[in-house]
Amino acid sequence: MSELDKILNQSNFSAEDLAFLLNLKGDERIQLLQKSREIKLKTIGNKVFFRGLIEFSNVCSKDCLYCGIRKSNEKVLRYNVLDNEVLDACRFAWEKGFGSVVLQSGELSSKAFVNRVDKLVQKIKQLSNNELGITLSCGEQTKEAYQSWFESGAHRYLLRIESSNRELYYKIHPENKKHSFEKRIESLHHLKETGYQTGTGVMIGLPFQTEEDLAADLLFFKKLDIDMCGMGPYVEHEDTPLFQFKHLLKKKQERFDLALNMIAVLRLLMPDINIAAATALEAIDSQGREKALAVGANIIMPNLTPHKYLANYLLYENKPIRGEDKNQAITDLGERLKNSGIEIGLNMWGDSKHFINRSS
Ligand code: SAM
Repeated sequence: MSELDKILNQSNFSAEDLAFLLNLKGDERIQLLQKSREIKLKTIGNKVFFRGLIEFSNVCSKDCLYCGIRKSNEKVLRYNVLDNEVLDACRFAWEKGFGSVVLQSGELSSKAFVNRVDKLVQKIKQLSNNELGITLSCGEQTKEAYQSWFESGAHRYLLRIESSNRELYYKIHPENKKHSFEKRIESLHHLKETGYQTGTGVMIGLPFQTEEDLAADLLFFKKLDIDMCGMGPYVEHEDTPLFQFKHLLKKKQERFDLALNMIAVLRLLMPDINIAAATALEAIDSQGREKALAVGANIIMPNLTPHKYLANYLLYENKPIRGEDKNQAITDLGERLKNSGIEIGLNMWGDSKHFINRSS
């Protein structure tokens, strides 16, 4: 038996095993991707769930060194999608049979912001007879805010750790109270304690990041016992401080391949969690999300933000901008998925099996 066969048939993986898998190339890499697909089909089946993504505000109080909508980027025109536009997008999702929506924004912690999210969550529940599931991705908040949003009806939360290596974290964030590594970890614990299906993730291919860092990120996910993961390639943005390290980056295709390897390896490590096919994959390869779904991912988040706001939520260069007609965009995506043999789970929340298993 080859070393690869031996590792692929394990159920426990050391950091060395994970780094070995992440580094695979050529035929051995294909073997890894196939194994991940096999495990996905066996554990959670062939269904992919849609989450309608609404980027409802790009106003942000943080200054993450990689992010195009960081507070200090004065080129960004700041917006708040109007409440009725958010609700229209949710109604669209519900009528199309999407089980869930994701509300994402920059990070604010004012009382007005916390109240606004509360009201939106309650109204989305009302307009859909409680049928739409709601994921939030609004950054670090107090435990009380998380609790309040949960009581209003949100039941999943995505908060990427970005990197679980503290030293690397502070190479991609300013080191100050507003960007505390410990606070981010504490927030993840608060989310779990509140009862959310909790998701995290990292950017892949960051400057200074090694495969060993990524292996440690995977073990961090396992230790935290996450229910969901959203991770994708780091894609540079010229109006951010991290852009100065562009020369240290792997080629975009290599970052893409490594991101697929990360998804595949995570599926081996945590077979029953939900894994999203991140939008950033599509910034490098127009079929990127479908490729991730063919390997280990089972969630896709079609962008339902009203068209006029899309150009102001550019987290990285080449971020795909949907056409004005979202109906057409969804029909096209559905066709593409069907043609790749993927079954779409309509009118279902598509909750993380891992969460269901750990709660029962
Ligand atoms: N403010 C919330 C938070 O911090 O969790 C949610 C919004 S934030 C813009 C969403 C995600 O975008 C981040 O978690 C980060 O991983 C990703 N992101 C930002 N800039 C990126 C870049 N240059 N390349 C890839 N992903 C990026």
